[in-house]
Amino acid sequence: MRYGVISDIHSNLVALERVLAYLTKMRVDRYLCLGDIVGYGARPNECCELMRKLDCVCIRGNHDTAACTPGKERWFNAHARICIMWTRQILTEENCEYLRTLPQTEVVQEIQLCHGSLTEPDAYIRTAGDALLSLKAMTGALCLFGHTHYAEWYTLTERATYPSHYRAIAGGTLTLEKNVKHMLNPGAVGQPRDGNSQAGCAIVDTEARTVEIARIGYDIDVAQEQIRSAGLPPSMAARLLAGI
Ligand code: ZN
Repeated sequence: MRYGVISDIHSNLVALERVLAYLTKMRVDRYLCLGDIVGYGARPNECCELMRKLDCVCIRGNHDTAACTPGKERWFNAHARICIMWTRQILTEENCEYLRTLPQTEVVQEIQLCHGSLTEPDAYIRTAGDALLSLKAMTGALCLFGHTHYAEWYTLTERATYPSHYRAIAGGTLTLEKNVKHMLNPGAVGQPRDGNSQAGCAIVDTEARTVEIARIGYDIDVAQEQIRSAGLPPSMAARLLAGI
């Protein structure tokens, strides 16, 4: 089985379409999405509608929750809050219901999916110490997470007390070893923050026992123009090009 893994789309339809075209070309059988379909970008309804059409196991991110839950925006900084309020206004009732009813975690073929961390859905895994808590809570060999918008992975061998960390800024292939726990973030589709502006995604191949992270270039200027014309904060357009 080959799974196409995407996360943190953030209403960036241009990036989403480009990544899905790449994953289709790479012959994935099914999709896994780690949350944050909306927030920041200018095409929330179109992104929801595309996701609803896919054969995809999808979980809910903190921006998906906030877009459909009045009051939740106060947990975000000023610019993110403006985007959440704008998204809430423009989302159709059907798309809001879709986001609201997504689960917070899922397990597919023993692969665990979470948005932030396994122990706390909104917590960020930013360090090996953060990753250790989730690695210890894992029941299988592979956990996929998002939320930080960094493409990277952590591994913990049976004897190790501390995880190893690999940053896949330009992509990379993780081989799933026996008796090792692996946590992998495919990077963000719609708002990468690791200094590489290219969209992130991954392919899990359960037979080859590999997870390949790819970085895909897309028309950033089109996504930027959509953000500006929607009247969203200009910093949301600028950061796409900087990859921050
Ligand atoms: Zn996000």
